[in-house]
Amino acid sequence: MDFIIETLEQLNDPLFFKLLFGVMSIIILAVILGFPNCPQCSRKIWNNGKVVDREYIDTTPQKSDGSNDLRYKRSGYTKILREWNCRCGHTFQKWIKKI
Ligand SMILES: [Zn+2]
Repeated sequence: MDFIIETLEQLNDPLFFKLLFGVMSIIILAVILGFPNCPQCSRKIWNNGKVVDREYIDTTPQKSDGSNDLRYKRSGYTKILREWNCRCGHTFQKWIKKI
């Protein structure tokens, strides 16, 4: 019983919440930034990798002849090919849509 009370007291420690918040925000940040898991060993890779290639995708509606239909607003996005090197030695690439 003492152990449970001790644990609860530790939970009330603001430092514990700061640590928990710190860890949580790092994980959330990693998800937002799109840090990938290695396909080989499924470990999280804690960096942004390096840009190998990029491509602009035009999503403006097109006319039947294939040119942009200028009645619509031009739209599109950039895709970025990133490359990561995992600690296990595996190298992999992934296309990421730039926001
Ligand atoms: Zn790996």
